[in-house]
Amino acid sequence: MNIRTKLHPAIPRVICPRCGTTMRLAGIEPDDIGRGEVTVFDCDCGFEYRMSASVREEERRVRAAEERAYAVAD
Ligand SMILES: [Zn+2]
Repeated sequence: MNIRTKLHPAIPRVICPRCGTTMRLAGIEPDDIGRGEVTVFDCDCGFEYRMSASVREEERRVRAAEERAYAVAD
């Protein structure tokens, strides 16, 4: 089985901007404001890349919930 098929589809392959190789997924951490997650990649050359991909999705969920609440209040 190809190992790549086991990776989460939401996690993209990231190419290191410094050395051009595929970066390793180092982990997923909560972001600074606690609203989402930061996906952390690192590379053998020492470059670290942090991607807060889920923050936007979380904001969309919150906004949709608020819109529903207003609709009920009407
Ligand atoms: Zn690198």
